Amino acid sequence: MPEKPHLTGFSRAELGELFAGLAEPRYRADQVFRGLHGRRLMSFEEMTDLPKAVREKLNETAAASTLTVDSKYISIDGTRRFLMKTHDGYPVETVFIPTENRDTICFSSQSGCPLKCDFCLTAKLGLLRNLTAGEIIEQIIIVLNDVYGVGGETPHGTNLVAMGEGEPFLNFENLIKALDIMSDENGLFIVPGRITVSTAGIVPKILEFAKLDRRPNLAISLSSPNEAQRDVLMPINKRWPIAELLAAAKVFEKTLKRGERFTFEYVLLGGVNDSDDHAADLAELLRRHDLRKVKINLIPHNPAEPLDYRPSSPEQVRRFKEILESLGVSAYIRTPRGRDIYAACGQLAAKTV
Ligand code: SF4
Repeated sequence: MPEKPHLTGFSRAELGELFAGLAEPRYRADQVFRGLHGRRLMSFEEMTDLPKAVREKLNETAAASTLTVDSKYISIDGTRRFLMKTHDGYPVETVFIPTENRDTICFSSQSGCPLKCDFCLTAKLGLLRNLTAGEIIEQIIIVLNDVYGVGGETPHGTNLVAMGEGEPFLNFENLIKALDIMSDENGLFIVPGRITVSTAGIVPKILEFAKLDRRPNLAISLSSPNEAQRDVLMPINKRWPIAELLAAAKVFEKTLKRGERFTFEYVLLGGVNDSDDHAADLAELLRRHDLRKVKINLIPHNPAEPLDYRPSSPEQVRRFKEILESLGVSAYIRTPRGRDIYAACGQLAAKTV
């Protein structure tokens, strides 16, 4: 942990307590919250609406930012990948993906990842450590400031996906706290509807997530309709097999409001899990579990040495989608972004280009 508390990860109530302890009025806490999250300032010096003495006191007792950007890569498609480091030297990766009408930031919830998905480069790092709520939020602030200038307007709003390094549901508390702080209208004001959390299938946390009142969208990474194959591709399946995972997904589905849906992600690995039979089995699996409010995101595998997988052919990706649709399942193909700078799905492993 940083020696000084990292205020970016403090809720408004926690900031209030801190300022009470410093014998400062409550409104100072709101000023600092607005400075950090609304104006995206990364140092107390820049908060010139605070008296100098208060800024000095804050500098002595707390930190406004703790991450440093080691390198930044810009893809030919405009995607930006940021390699950051925590104060104690752990890598954090964040990706900015622009499209015509919206911006998406893919952030990390852990440094490295303890899960061993066979098609993912991050798995090779193992778990280095959980990121704090402040470190999760600071990634977003750094990226937005890089793209739009410090505190600059974000013309398309921002969508967030917890799909960078790590399994978000293994850092549940910090993740939910960070998302809560980011949704504050005096801060970044990124509402839960613009956020998607992607899990490899931590069943108890899916059930806990289902109970939250204000929660982001859910995506579950499935990648095979077959228990034996998923055991190999995503070893977390040995702990929570498909049958249990989809039962939890059904519990979650029942909490959705009219018109809401959730997502299954399916990484298509050429010659491995992309056959016509796999598509048909997947549709049948969803039917058997009575999962109706779902869509499937098909993610063509992104090549990443030393992983021994190849992407499916574009024809097979299309065919897979058509088979699902012919069986009544909505499916979308995710266009890979930032492959040239190792920013695409499954490629994040603190790799320098
Ligand atoms: S795909 Fe996600 S959950 Fe699986 S190893 Fe990679 S980062 Fe971890």
